[in-house]
Amino acid sequence: MSIYSTAINFDATEHEVECARWVEVDRDDAKPQMIAAGRKYRRAPEQDCTCGAGPIIYTGSHVLPSDEDPRGGSFSACYIPGFIDRSDRPALGEDDFPPHPWLRVWVDGGESDDYQGSVALLDRKQVAELHTFLGKWLAGDPDAETA
Ligand SMILES: [Zn+2]
Repeated sequence: MSIYSTAINFDATEHEVECARWVEVDRDDAKPQMIAAGRKYRRAPEQDCTCGAGPIIYTGSHVLPSDEDPRGGSFSACYIPGFIDRSDRPALGEDDFPPHPWLRVWVDGGESDDYQGSVALLDRKQVAELHTFLGKWLAGDPDAETA
């Protein structure tokens, strides 16, 4: 059992309900398992994704990406909730303490059907630097000096 809680997950297999990859099925055509589970959509892998699920597949540092490029793989960021205990740290109350000071980042480039991504743990200082950079990047000035 993982001690991590997923905070962000962009996965090429997780399509939004409005995506063309999901097709609503008439109740008469639904399989008994679907009816039992209350599901009324089936996967339609023959359709092109219209929701932009998952990261754009990286094709090289010399290639300018496009939103039209194929997507695949996944990206996730996970944390350890504060109530998780460890022998050298006393138990923390779920509502009273922040999460443990590490962020797990997982990346799968989507080049195969196997999930053989890479994982890294960032500490609070690294996450703070990443947070600052992302703010500048979103503001359109990734090289801005920070105070
Ligand atoms: Zn989709």
